[in-house]
Amino acid sequence: MARASSFVPDALWDALSPVGAVLDGVLLDMYGTLTAGDRAAVEEVCRLVIADTGVRISARQLSVVWGERFFAELDHCNDEHFQTLFEIEARTLRYTMAELGIDIDPHPYAWLLTDYWRNPPLQPEVPAFLAEFPLPICIVSNADRDDLACALKRHGIRVAGAVTSEEVRAYKPSPKLFLEALRRTGWNPQRVLHVGDSLHSDVGGARAAGLRSGWVNRAHRIHDIGADQPDYEFGDLMELLVLVRRLLGVTERPR
Ligand SMILES: [Mg+2]
Repeated sequence: MARASSFVPDALWDALSPVGAVLDGVLLDMYGTLTAGDRAAVEEVCRLVIADTGVRISARQLSVVWGERFFAELDHCNDEHFQTLFEIEARTLRYTMAELGIDIDPHPYAWLLTDYWRNPPLQPEVPAFLAEFPLPICIVSNADRDDLACALKRHGIRVAGAVTSEEVRAYKPSPKLFLEALRRTGWNPQRVLHVGDSLHSDVGGARAAGLRSGWVNRAHRIHDIGADQPDYEFGDLMELLVLVRRLLGVTERPR
């Protein structure tokens, strides 16, 4: 596959890329980026919790309260404090319900969420994106290892590598996931772009690891958790494909 050409004038490279460099590969977030986010799955679980317990709160409210607790926990579950996503989901649901005065066994509900992690709906453009993307991809995902492996297999997604939080015992934005991806791929950090849907986890984490970043802002959200500034912003993954083709000097295929 043709890589960047020496025929492209330096000035053009500089215009296209902040460091004027080509790319060895792209690191890509999984959930919310290649797949739908977990909002629908979480709200469905919350509806079941409400039906089973009779707690007087809406599914949307419960998902927000649980979600806030979950994401607050995530940043404190690294290294010696590491817990899997399944464990954090269960524990934070138990605490959330306890604050509402109800004691539950959260594990059946956490198992229902595992169905999402293992079989998430793909974003509509993903099959075409993966078929046409001209560079190797390494997934970098806050996920339990078996869940991610199952999701990739189920959708027939073949990538150069995949690094999960469970393997490095830390969650993005910890740079550990990104550094492990660089170690496994051997890619030069100057020639890597990380792309994901979270300003906090993806853009902030890539920055902490010294990498350029792209933010997939599907809903054109005005703000997100986190205030990190991406180098690029994409409405969907086909816009990433267009950028990478330009960076590589690949001519757009006629349609
Ligand atoms: Mg994501």
